[in-house]
Amino acid sequence: VIEIGQPEHSVVTTCAYCGVGCAFKAEMRGEEVVRMVPWKDGKANRGHSCVKGRFAWGYTTHKERILKPMIREGIADPWREVSWDEAFKFAAAKFKSIQQKYGRDAVGGITSSRCTNEETYLVQKLIRGGLGNNNVDTCARVCHSPTGYGLSTTFGTSAGTQDFDSVEQTDVVMVIGANPASAHPVFASRLKKRLRQGAKLIVLDPRRTEMVEAPHLKALHLPLMPGTNVAVLTALAHVIVTEALVDEAFVRERCDWSEFEEWAAFVALPKNSPESTAIMTGIDPNALREAARLFATGGNGAIYYGLGVTEHSQGSTTVISIANLAMATGNIGRPGVGVNPLRGQNNVQGSCDMGSFPHELPGYRHISGDAVRDQFEAMWNVKLNPEPGLRIPNMFDAAIEGTFMGLYVQGEDILQSDPNTKHVVAALSSMECVIVHDLFLNETANYAHVFLPGSTFLEKDGTFTNAERRIQRVRKVMTPRNGLADWEVTIGLAKAMGYDMHYDHPSQIMDEIAALTPTFAGVSYAKLEELGSVQWPCNQKAPEGTPVMHIDGFVRGKGKFVVTEYVPTDERTGPRYPLLLTTGRILSQYNVGAQTRRTDNVVWHAQDRLEIHPHDAEQRGVRDGDWVRLASRAGETTLRAEITDRVAPGVVYTTFHHPDTQANVITTDFSDWATNCPEYKVTAVQISPSNGP
Ligand code: SF4
Repeated sequence: VIEIGQPEHSVVTTCAYCGVGCAFKAEMRGEEVVRMVPWKDGKANRGHSCVKGRFAWGYTTHKERILKPMIREGIADPWREVSWDEAFKFAAAKFKSIQQKYGRDAVGGITSSRCTNEETYLVQKLIRGGLGNNNVDTCARVCHSPTGYGLSTTFGTSAGTQDFDSVEQTDVVMVIGANPASAHPVFASRLKKRLRQGAKLIVLDPRRTEMVEAPHLKALHLPLMPGTNVAVLTALAHVIVTEALVDEAFVRERCDWSEFEEWAAFVALPKNSPESTAIMTGIDPNALREAARLFATGGNGAIYYGLGVTEHSQGSTTVISIANLAMATGNIGRPGVGVNPLRGQNNVQGSCDMGSFPHELPGYRHISGDAVRDQFEAMWNVKLNPEPGLRIPNMFDAAIEGTFMGLYVQGEDILQSDPNTKHVVAALSSMECVIVHDLFLNETANYAHVFLPGSTFLEKDGTFTNAERRIQRVRKVMTPRNGLADWEVTIGLAKAMGYDMHYDHPSQIMDEIAALTPTFAGVSYAKLEELGSVQWPCNQKAPEGTPVMHIDGFVRGKGKFVVTEYVPTDERTGPRYPLLLTTGRILSQYNVGAQTRRTDNVVWHAQDRLEIHPHDAEQRGVRDGDWVRLASRAGETTLRAEITDRVAPGVVYTTFHHPDTQANVITTDFSDWATNCPEYKVTAVQISPSNGP
């Protein structure tokens, strides 16, 4: 007799929410999860977890989940349930016909930072090997693509430099454009523990976040105006250079000295001083000088940053500015220091590692490299196209122009996640075949012709790579309710399209990745079983992985300083739109809420609020809890007001977890100059009282 609530067995797996990558024991009764218990041996979480990983897995059995493949000729037609085989044949015929009519490059795919490494690898292999072009991009395009550009340029590798354990040896923590207490709670706990032991905290954020509000953390807060990251970081560098606080021995030994001199001469210009930039940035020059001195002289200094850095028109420049600062102060290449992007989704790092960018094969190798292509061609038995493909925004533009007609989207609701919703609708409506591969009929599916039901992390085997480059196993704890795990769906689709990718188990896909990717050369499921997890690079040189990178030298050789001129965003305030909107997250919700809103726990259903400073609210006759109309040049929406001085006058803030919020109806078309990452964090807006939606 089995009592209700008593597990029969347990399986260790990895959380599918944020980039911390907490390991859990899924305690099971047959095919039913009884509870998720944070695993004490998980190297990223050491027995801790947050509410999302621990309680928000009920979406797996939610009634709205789609379990049967569906097709339709036109988006006005009703969906028709079909067999997997019929769905694959239908999709393949559509893609074939599009390629015959419009050419080889008229189709492409988007991978998901929610899916496993192996699934991501298969999607890019299908596009490159099966469809013959490089039109593959990742949803990381809209979050951390500037991290890839900035850290590759300066250090030579597209990843954070440290493991999470490193924070235990940090003396000064600088958090930029991130709110780990909400978005990376388990890492935030480790950070707070170190701060309670005496480490110092500097926070660059337009808003007084939880990290700033906690009095015992004693944060030195630099409340910059949204969009001025580069100016603030350059002013910090100005103080470090002009007050002779540079770690010259480190720079001479580890970096290109002439590039450093050029950079130092630039940041020392009077226009970059804290005093010259104060009006523009909103930062008290004395506070800025104090922060610069503290970071340069306070011992081991580590920088952690989030989307408040990357989602700007100067996102890549900001990442480079951060790298410059770390190199100038000698804070790279040992425990306790470093530059660390906090990844929002569970597998942002992995989706980038697996060749999801239109110009890069797995392991960040450019598609134009003959030797690299030769290697992949031999393994995949195809001829690869050496021309980089389209990024997501270029796919949308090409669709509207009539040259891109077929899209396979795995695990991303692009209509809710990408900027300028009207433009995305126009693009999707122009396509002849949109294949959505997902758990629920999301907003994008309204414009789809094929719906392939997705599987949850509980229903499949694979690996995720967290923010510290840690590759961890995802283990199947139940049979996929939809019949096929996502990796099997991509294989089925590829076969119908005439490209046979045969694997019996994701471990074989990882073996292929390891054979083709030098940083993964030593990775196998057997090794992951033996060690629990491993941080790449993992190869002959580092058979047990690499917790801290750039110890003996940068991956690119000498560290590269780059001059980072501040260029204000083209998004400007003015009489009609006098306020700046920026965005963030709350602890209990996750992104657009597709999973967290589909759990039974009422805490997940919290609504988004618009935070308004009392001065701005009073001027407009808005009281706490009122409905307000939020309008930008792009569009408008309606939200409840929360009057608070957490935001400065002139700045408003909201989260974007509920579909009704439609934050991306408001956001602009501006994007990072290097990577097209959208500028979600700065939008000029106006608010006015409203009667509600
Ligand atoms: Fe999951 Fe992140 Fe919470 Fe850990 S901190 S349980 S990885 S959401």
